[in-house]
Amino acid sequence: MKELIEKAAKDLVNSNYAIALTGAGISTESGVPDFRSPSGIWTKDPEAEKRAYESYQKFLTNPKEYWEERLTSPSLLGDLEKVKPNPGHYALAELEKMGILKWVITQNVDNLHQRAGSKNVLEYHGNAFNLRCASCNARYDSKEYDLGKLREEGKLPPLCKKCGGKIKPDIVHFREPIPSDVAHQSLEEVWRCDLLLICGTSAAVYPFANLPRAARERRIERERKTELGLFVAEKIPAVTIIEVNAEPTPLTVGKISDYLIQGKTGEILPKIVEEIVALCQRSYPRN
Ligand SMILES: [Zn+2]
Repeated sequence: MKELIEKAAKDLVNSNYAIALTGAGISTESGVPDFRSPSGIWTKDPEAEKRAYESYQKFLTNPKEYWEERLTSPSLLGDLEKVKPNPGHYALAELEKMGILKWVITQNVDNLHQRAGSKNVLEYHGNAFNLRCASCNARYDSKEYDLGKLREEGKLPPLCKKCGGKIKPDIVHFREPIPSDVAHQSLEEVWRCDLLLICGTSAAVYPFANLPRAARERRIERERKTELGLFVAEKIPAVTIIEVNAEPTPLTVGKISDYLIQGKTGEILPKIVEEIVALCQRSYPRN
């Protein structure tokens, strides 16, 4: 374990453009429920999952009823304002401050990366605190709309202040396409990076699951000198992929990742940051 943490620290320091992919595992340590583990929301309430599959269609066909239902049923994720970022979130924010990590692409909707201080966050499945226009993708803080008042006045669904389109929660429902701006930029970052740090996700849900796979397929060409002194071109993987997760995932088994550091993200990520600080002090000692 210690060796792998040192290896990850070195790989991060030597990278030019590292990005992180995060999933439910990093937030369960803050008490945010996940969906598919034995105690997950869908596992415990399959009916809720069935309803969730219908949500997007309901929004498209009857947005007023969709909003009525939404405003009168409790949030599946509980009160996200009460949960707090954990050391895993803070470690990723620290890596960004150090200039090592360029982006976090997260499947989580809980806003915890931002609250921990990360600035460059792509929210693949949206943000539970935001609303989004289904026509122009404009995002709004939920507080910008008095949804209770709109309901009383019979003015649901809320309408976009920019284009007049229908507003939905920013979170991406089942069967709803990933918002084009986020999908596009996420893929661009994956094409650009040379290190991918995958934290707390088995990347089993598509299309998010395509991101590590797209990174794995990238190759760069380099020249290698043979024993005879000839130079030959060879193609090598362009991206180092590191997993930090409680257990092996399909990415580990399928050799999509180069290595897995098994354990809690809230314990391992801070240790990687500590190791990076130690590495930098050894390289640039202060007298
Ligand atoms: Zn709009």
